[in-house]
Amino acid sequence: MSARGPVLDRFRLLAAVLVVCIHTGPLAGCNAAADFWLCRVFARIAVPFFLMVSGYFLEKDQWRGAERFLKKTLAIYAAAVLLYLPLNLYGGGYHLPEWGKRLFLDGTLYHLWYFPAVLLGVLIARSLSRLGRRAALTAAAGLYLLGLGGDSYYGLVSQFSGPRAFYDATFLLFQHTRNGLFYIPLFLLLGAAGMRWRGRRALAGFLLSLGAMTAEGFILRSLGWQRHDSMYLTLPLCMVFLFSLLLDRNQGTDRRARRLSMLVYLLHPWFIALAGAGQRLPWLAGPLEKNSLLRFAAVLAASLASAWVLDALRPLPVPSRSRAWREIDLSALRHNAQALQALLPERCALMAVLKADAYGHGAPSSARCLWRAGVRDFAVACLSEGIALRKAGVRGTILILGYTPPELVPQLRRWHLTQAVADEDHGHALADQGLPLRVHLALDTGMHRLGIPAEDIAALTRLYARRELRIEGVFSHLCVSDNPELERYTTGQLDRFSAAVDRLRRQGLDPGKLHIQSSYGLLNLPPQPCAYVRAGIVLYGVSSGGGLPRRWPELHPVLSLRARVACVRTLRPGDRAGYGLAFQAERETRLAVLTIGYADGLPRALSQQGGRVLLRGVSCPMAGRMCMDQLLVDVTGVPEVRAGDVATLIGRDGDQEIPAEEVAERCGTITNELLSRLGKRACSYRIVEKKPELLFGPDARILPRGRKMA
Ligand SMILES: *Cc1c(COP(=O)(O)O)cnc(C)c1O
Repeated sequence: MSARGPVLDRFRLLAAVLVVCIHTGPLAGCNAAADFWLCRVFARIAVPFFLMVSGYFLEKDQWRGAERFLKKTLAIYAAAVLLYLPLNLYGGGYHLPEWGKRLFLDGTLYHLWYFPAVLLGVLIARSLSRLGRRAALTAAAGLYLLGLGGDSYYGLVSQFSGPRAFYDATFLLFQHTRNGLFYIPLFLLLGAAGMRWRGRRALAGFLLSLGAMTAEGFILRSLGWQRHDSMYLTLPLCMVFLFSLLLDRNQGTDRRARRLSMLVYLLHPWFIALAGAGQRLPWLAGPLEKNSLLRFAAVLAASLASAWVLDALRPLPVPSRSRAWREIDLSALRHNAQALQALLPERCALMAVLKADAYGHGAPSSARCLWRAGVRDFAVACLSEGIALRKAGVRGTILILGYTPPELVPQLRRWHLTQAVADEDHGHALADQGLPLRVHLALDTGMHRLGIPAEDIAALTRLYARRELRIEGVFSHLCVSDNPELERYTTGQLDRFSAAVDRLRRQGLDPGKLHIQSSYGLLNLPPQPCAYVRAGIVLYGVSSGGGLPRRWPELHPVLSLRARVACVRTLRPGDRAGYGLAFQAERETRLAVLTIGYADGLPRALSQQGGRVLLRGVSCPMAGRMCMDQLLVDVTGVPEVRAGDVATLIGRDGDQEIPAEEVAERCGTITNELLSRLGKRACSYRIVEKKPELLFGPDARILPRGRKMA
């Protein structure tokens, strides 16, 4: 039969034109009956069609997309209300209560009833769909029958006083949005049911039911029963055949047609209003006379043209997976937080260290995810990181571990941040600002980086005497807790810490919350009598490198690093490649060029230190010198590699994995450095909640739909 294509999307355009017909009555000037058929009968397929398409796609992922659909509809509705604000005000405005009713129940302008109604309709249809298909359809059909009485069959039911009162009340309450209850659920669920007949049968069914609907329409018209005419007894029948007909030929999508149809739908009332205004101009009045075909054509052409222009001006998205990107598996992060929390003694909480943009994992989204896992305390390195978290809406305590210049005390206070006191002078300088400030005192127990010497009880006492300092905690940092051979040094640090705390307590000074262990302190040492463990690197599911600590709960790596294959080329034996001609082919060699380089945060040395990538689940060695934006990979062993394939530089592909620890080790560093330096340029995040499956092919759906991070 005829060719397949994105007919569902293209039919939306026709449906939008039919809606314009309904509102302009193109044939009213020439033949009233023809106009009645076109606008009051045939064009009534338009809105049910939109609904059936929505229902069909919502059902496809078991209504999981309903939330997104509702949000999007709400956003479009909000934009539309604003768009028509001038018209509504010009049209006489209304009092506040009237506005409320219009906004929530009627959709502010006649054609916008669709938005509030569809919000209601989707909620109802989703609830009904939980009853199972048959029950849901029966219930929705019942609602539809009920609704008919207030629509095309009003003349019939209004002969009885009871029903009449019911429908009049409905009209009073929600003039148009009643459709959300009576009309929309049925079409959504019919679309969701996706019934199909073979092409011929569907066509015959459609034509027959359209004939029946025509007859029904004209009979009702002659009886004068119609209060409104969007619902017919035969309309659902007509729709299931039409939808089957279209669905049968549907293949692929035409997003542009989708956008244009929505824009035409949204914009055309403005042009109807303008045409109305045009009729007052003497030279336009004649040709534009109400309901003339020309008026319809002008409104349609103007709507289409402005839709086309707006669509052309729309910002084009750049997908995050187009070049080089990090994938952040938030379910792994949540798992790790819970696994670490399980190791903590009672009354000890996890303080999540989110410095350096959460070690390259994206601080705001990590913080939000950790919050959901029950984490309420966070640590960062500096003021700007703390402010960034607050701006992202992160609550709880945020401790700044590093130095903040004293004159920035107002900023610390404004953002409710807690400052670590780096040494005695820093503490006094902070206090000298004359403003109360929450602080934790850092004690130097042997690292000799930040902190007041733990033995210097006099200095500590002097700081406690400063009224401005609200000392809420005392902490220290271990510098060799990762090294079992230096365990005595670590024990010494712990002893000095607890001695200092004891001395404070004996002097009647409250040290507040104590903390001294970070990742390796937690996993290598016995539990400490502290309020917090400050965990950084292990939260992200990796060790720093080298050996594993004594205890190693099952942790999942959170970050993967991926890039695309830009092209593949073949070198003859003896050919050289790359800067410095550092690579030489010993045999015929296929080289893939990847879209990632040292400016994306990969150490440049990696490519000549045994660096490798995974392509189509196979490990391939890097070749030659890494460039700023690209690197070469020897893919001779994987002949299927193509441009557009996804390469994994850190993480899993199939049953192969390149751990971050391996990459760090090759470059003579630790994962902390490797990860926190990633992505200084184009590397954008994908936040995913599940493990990726299939990684190759430009069109491979490699990930479940994830949220993109700014
Ligand atoms: C970075 C840092 C941490 C976190 O260290 P990890 O080893 O990544 O857990 C804890 N405390 C302080 C003071 C830090 O600077």
